[in-house]
Amino acid sequence: MVSTVTLDKLVSLCKRRGFIFQTADIYGGLNGVYDAGPLGTLMKSNVRALWQQSLQRLDKDIVFIDGALLGPETMWKASGHLESFHDPLVECKSCNSRFRADDVDLARACPRCGKTDWTDVREFHLMFKTQLGASVEQSSVAYLRPETAQSVFVNFKNVWTTSRVKIPFGIAQIGKAFRNEITPKQFLFRMREFEQMELEWFCTEATAREFFDFWATERTSFYKSIGVNQTHIRLRSHEKEELSHYSTATSDVEYEFPFGWKELEGIAYRGCYDLSQHAQHSKKDLAVFDEETKESYTPHVIECSVGVDRLFLTLLFNAYCEEAVEGEVRTVLRLHPSVAPIKAAFLPLVNKLAEPCERIYAEFKKCGISVQFDVSGSIGKRYRRQDEIGTPYCFTYDFESAETGTVTVRHRDSMKQERIAINSIASYITHTSPFLTPCPH
Ligand SMILES: [Zn+2]
Repeated sequence: MVSTVTLDKLVSLCKRRGFIFQTADIYGGLNGVYDAGPLGTLMKSNVRALWQQSLQRLDKDIVFIDGALLGPETMWKASGHLESFHDPLVECKSCNSRFRADDVDLARACPRCGKTDWTDVREFHLMFKTQLGASVEQSSVAYLRPETAQSVFVNFKNVWTTSRVKIPFGIAQIGKAFRNEITPKQFLFRMREFEQMELEWFCTEATAREFFDFWATERTSFYKSIGVNQTHIRLRSHEKEELSHYSTATSDVEYEFPFGWKELEGIAYRGCYDLSQHAQHSKKDLAVFDEETKESYTPHVIECSVGVDRLFLTLLFNAYCEEAVEGEVRTVLRLHPSVAPIKAAFLPLVNKLAEPCERIYAEFKKCGISVQFDVSGSIGKRYRRQDEIGTPYCFTYDFESAETGTVTVRHRDSMKQERIAINSIASYITHTSPFLTPCPH
C-alpha cells in the first residue's frame, strides 16, 4: 500500500468513475444531496438485495413493506417527532453562518469570519414540511418522513391482519427519509435525503432482551459476510445518558472511518413506545391477543437500522486501496464480489478479436448479469480501469482462444492470470451475484 484512503480520494473516485454525483452540479449543486451514477446505482441495488436476503434467509417470519414518503402531521405528533426532532442551532451575527451548536465552540471565534458574536442557541426543526393540494388548512399539512420506522408502526395492524404472521415476527423496509440537517457532513455520511434499511422486530416483553442480543450478533455477522474488514468493525453498547427517551438498550455496529469510529447500524430496544403512542393518538386498538394467556398486549420492538448510503460509503472505504505496481500506482477497489457493480469484463486482446469475444459477453449479458465489454486502449489500461471500479474478474480473449476454446482469467486482487476453458467462465461469475452468494451461516 502506498498511501491510506481519505475522504477526498473517495469523493474524487466516485465522481471520476460515475458512482456518485452531487445533485444538480451544473447549477452549483444542492448541499447534502447526491445522485447515484450508473455504477453507484448498480452497487446500491446489490447492497439492498444483500440486506433483504440476509433477513429472508433466516429461520424467522419477516415481511416487507414499502411505505410512502409523506405522512400527516397527526402521525408525527404521535411519534414524538413534531415536538422533539430538532438540533441546537447558533448563528454568527457577523456573517450569518449557521452551525449546529454542538459542532462549534461558542467561547471561540466563528470559523468562517473570525468574529465572536453568536446568537443564542435555539432549536431548529429537522423535518421538511409541505402542504398537500391547494388547501391551506392545518389538516393538509404533511411532512417528508425523517425515518422509515413510523411507516411500519402505523401499518402494524394492517400487516398483522393480512399476512398470517404470529408474534414474534418482523416488518422490514427499504426507503428514503429526509432530515434538514443544519450541517450535512462527510459526503454520504450525513445527508439531507438518504435511504434507510430497517427491521422492526415485534416480540413479547419477556423475550425482548434475548432477541436484542440475537439481532446484535446477527447484524454484526452480516457485515462479515459482505467482506467488511473485521478489524474496522465493532459492537458498542450505548451508555445510559446516550439512550433515546423511548429506548432501554441500544447497541451500535460501528465502523472505523478515517474520521473516527462512527455508527453504521443501530440496534435499539424501543419497548412498546411506538405502538402505544399510535394507539393512544389514533384511538385504534393496536394490541394483539395471546391465545395461550387469553390476554391482549402491545408487542415490544427491537429495531435494526442502517443507511444504504452509509453502508455504501463504508464498503468503498473498506475496499479502496492504492498500491505500487511496476513503478506505478494501482488504485483498486477490493469489493466483495457480491457487492461489485460490474461482475466481469470481457476484453479482446486486440481489436480484430472483438467479434468472438463480444459473443461470449452477450451470453452473460442476456442472463441479466452486470458485465462489461471493453475494446479500447491497451490491455493493461483496461485492466486498471476495471480494478478501479472493483470488477472481480477480467476474461481476455487472445490469439489462442479460437483454437483451444480457452480465455485467460485475471483476478482483480492478486492480478494473477490463468488460462481456463470458455465453458467454465460461468462458474466464476455465478458466485458474484448477490442473489446467489453462499449462506454465511
Ligand atoms: Zn461569522
